[in-house]
Amino acid sequence: MQQSAKIERQPGFLPRADFQRLLDGVVKSGYQLLGPVVKDGAIQLMEISDATQLVKGLTNEQQPGRYRLQQTAGERLFDWNHGPQGLKPLCFAPHEVLWVEQKDPLSFTTRLPDVKPTAVLGVRSCDLAALAIQDRHFLHAAGADPHYRERREQLFLIGIDCAHSAESCFCASTGDGPSVNQAVDIGLSELDDGFLVWSGSDRGEAVLQQIDLAAAQTQQLEQMEHQSDQAAQEQQRKLPSAEELMRLYQRLEHAHWQQIAERCLGCGNCTAVCPTCFCYDTQHEVSLDGLSAQNVRQWDSCFSASHSSMGGFKVRGNILSRYRQWLTHKLAGWQEQQGRIGCTGCGRCITWCPVGIDLTKESDAILWEGSLDE
Ligand code: SF4
Ligand code: SF4
Repeated sequence: MQQSAKIERQPGFLPRADFQRLLDGVVKSGYQLLGPVVKDGAIQLMEISDATQLVKGLTNEQQPGRYRLQQTAGERLFDWNHGPQGLKPLCFAPHEVLWVEQKDPLSFTTRLPDVKPTAVLGVRSCDLAALAIQDRHFLHAAGADPHYRERREQLFLIGIDCAHSAESCFCASTGDGPSVNQAVDIGLSELDDGFLVWSGSDRGEAVLQQIDLAAAQTQQLEQMEHQSDQAAQEQQRKLPSAEELMRLYQRLEHAHWQQIAERCLGCGNCTAVCPTCFCYDTQHEVSLDGLSAQNVRQWDSCFSASHSSMGGFKVRGNILSRYRQWLTHKLAGWQEQQGRIGCTGCGRCITWCPVGIDLTKESDAILWEGSLDE
């Protein structure tokens, strides 16, 4: 896989009226382009070819259990934060056939996806950090996943700094945003009159060579810095430190777990929208004539009743134990397994939880309220 190199920013300036030239350069380089458009009332990544397909002046309101887009008279294209979909489905497919079997003659054939080179426009820093976590799990753990790798190798990433934070964002406290601080092919920072643009890889540089960027002015660089500082300062939520989160293991009997269980519906929305969650299940589907079968992988969730089933026994038989598994694994167990917490502060699980359960508030309550032997 071609890795995007992490380099210092040396941006040039692209006036707003010339933004289409960047998209043309990406498409001419052989990529299909996925960009943020409004679909079903939310920002979603869809195939685009034209900057006019991007919505000007759109902002978002994201609170526990609430997501609303708002139209303003502004000119900016990226003043929202993110929709429900991160990069996860682009590499780790929600549902796919892994291999097929034939009975006569007996054969097993891996079914790899047929993937086009794909550029994704407007990727936020929290989602880049989540992709790095998924890469570590699917590519660098023992035995790289070939299906994930096929898709990941074809991904061209165009990141963008967040100039504002949504109410549910807390990436500053996890160190994953709000400005792009992970490897990208091209990075963007949107200003009032255009974009600061920099390359982060040879592939990104090859695209930018086709575009005549102006030199960035000191004032523009200062505005970029100011916007990132502003977005970080807007964040009201935060997670405790990684070290403090390890103490969740000492609080497994805390009364607050029951309080959460009484609100949690066990719907699994939080794991579906989470850009780092990677649990899956596989099914062996046999054809009606019994001559062939396929092995299918689909996303699973630690909130599904069957997820902890072993030999017919459900290890986690109630919602309390499932939520506790999700939170302690994400915020403590991953530190031991992955070297960092499994949360990048995107806030999606807060926004898209139908009852507004908020992992920052729940972990605070469990860590800091009551005594250890509650
Ligand atoms: S746990 Fe929640 S806030 Fe953290 S990365 Fe997943 S969805 Fe985002
Ligand atoms: S925490 Fe919210 S989103 Fe997650 S399973 Fe419970 S009700 Fe659903």
